[in-house]
Amino acid sequence: MALWDKLGGGGNIEDRRGMGALGIGGSLVAGIVVLALGYFGISADPALVEQLLVSAGVTGQSESTQTSEFKGQDSYETFASNVIGSSNRYWSKTLSGNTDYQTPRLVLFRNATQSGCGIATSEVGPHYCPLDKTIYLDETFFDVLAERLGGSNGDVAQAYVMAHEVGHHVQNVTGIMERVQNDPAYEQTGSNSLSVRLELQADCYAGLWANSIKDAGVFESDNEIQEAIVAAGDVGFDRIQSTTVSVNSVKWTHGSSAQRIESFNRGWKSGQLSQCSL
Ligand SMILES: [Zn+2]
Repeated sequence: MALWDKLGGGGNIEDRRGMGALGIGGSLVAGIVVLALGYFGISADPALVEQLLVSAGVTGQSESTQTSEFKGQDSYETFASNVIGSSNRYWSKTLSGNTDYQTPRLVLFRNATQSGCGIATSEVGPHYCPLDKTIYLDETFFDVLAERLGGSNGDVAQAYVMAHEVGHHVQNVTGIMERVQNDPAYEQTGSNSLSVRLELQADCYAGLWANSIKDAGVFESDNEIQEAIVAAGDVGFDRIQSTTVSVNSVKWTHGSSAQRIESFNRGWKSGQLSQCSL
């Protein structure tokens, strides 16, 4: 377990974990039911319908019945805030002068939620939606990851995944993503294709973030984060990432674990943005 509290939190985090499926609260479902009743000439009070639906367990949890576990900041939200907060500070400083860095939004959810790119489900896994500049993290993905890792470095693997998604945000706000995706060669596949290079650059960017917090004494050993990258690759981070296709409607292919580690290390060891060119 790395010592994340040393970083200090921050960032724009929206916690949707206590909400029902798709992050839709009881009032919206109640509103739909009221409309449906209206169609049959029956008028009903939306608040009353919502209450009935919630007590009947039809709508998942409304805000008033939100699981107490997710009220306020729990340790997971604090962890996410430490990672995203330190990343925001790093990228704001690094990109100042080139661009006024607009930090990403982070949505925490379980099972499914609505994103600016469509419906995000557990099958999609952690991903970034360029349209609403938001990173979507399904906590159940990390449950699986931690379980498969047997408890070791699960948190470091999560932080790496988050930093990789921030990497895509940086590519988006700096115009790299658009430029690459508009290149006719973007359609090509293969280990040196533009789409793979975009992925590997996000790994290099994750390495830059890790370098920026190196002296904060977060990591207990130097190998900790490389082990986490291998583990994330082993449990199917690439596979999970590849399903981002359906979310972004973008052709998405990936580098091997070895390529990912090599790219990550370029950022991690140098701390130089110039080392992470496409
Ligand atoms: Zn990616």
